Amino acid sequence: MDDLVARLADVDARIAAAARVAGRDPAAITRIVVTKFHPAQLVARLHRLGVRDLGENRQQELSAKRAELAALTDLRWHFIGQAQTKKARAIRAAASVVHSVDRDKLADALDRAADGDDVLDVLVQVNLTADPDRGGVAPAGIEALAEHVAGCRTLQLRGVMAVAPLDEPPAAAFARLAGYAARLRRVVPDADWISAGMTADFAEAIAAGATHLRIGSAITGARPVPD
Ligand SMILES: *Cc1c(COP(=O)(O)O)cnc(C)c1O
Repeated sequence: MDDLVARLADVDARIAAAARVAGRDPAAITRIVVTKFHPAQLVARLHRLGVRDLGENRQQELSAKRAELAALTDLRWHFIGQAQTKKARAIRAAASVVHSVDRDKLADALDRAADGDDVLDVLVQVNLTADPDRGGVAPAGIEALAEHVAGCRTLQLRGVMAVAPLDEPPAAAFARLAGYAARLRRVVPDADWISAGMTADFAEAIAAGATHLRIGSAITGARPVPD
């Protein structure tokens, strides 16, 4: 069996097992394959294996892959990286979901970039560390940002996103995230997505209620060095 096929099957089996342990339905969990730094060809192979949800963290790479794979009209591209406001238009044109809304200005820029009445799914990224450079709104700002996003006509607030800190056990960090998700739902009750869990920590994320996993190297293999 092809390595990619084997790795995808292995990850999906581990997702299903972690869901069972947590008493959750694996079908309620979306596995996003993060393909950053890999060529569009890999995305095409994943598509042939049934993968539809893809993640990218850089606008230019997202836009290029989407253009190259325009024939694959059923792909859903998830933008998961830190976003500059000036890239909002290009991100909106390429992505079905933006996971990394962390400030009012970015929400406004994405909202202004709407094409007619189309609605963009977005998540509020929360910073689980004390380092402001890591991306995400500080927990104290969750409600204010959620209210701001909820007021953007062409954005649909879906939930929260976070990356586990490097210096803390992921289960503890994801438990905090579950609390932040509950706070967000007090502002927008149906915003119940939790985007969390990567190669190293997706089982812990599932245990803490993650609905959207962003898994790269466990499926794609090691990443090529970025240019
Ligand atoms: C690269 C990336 C991932 C996937 O990382 P892996 O460790 O390869 O699974 C998930 N989320 C974000 C925000 C990323 O940048």
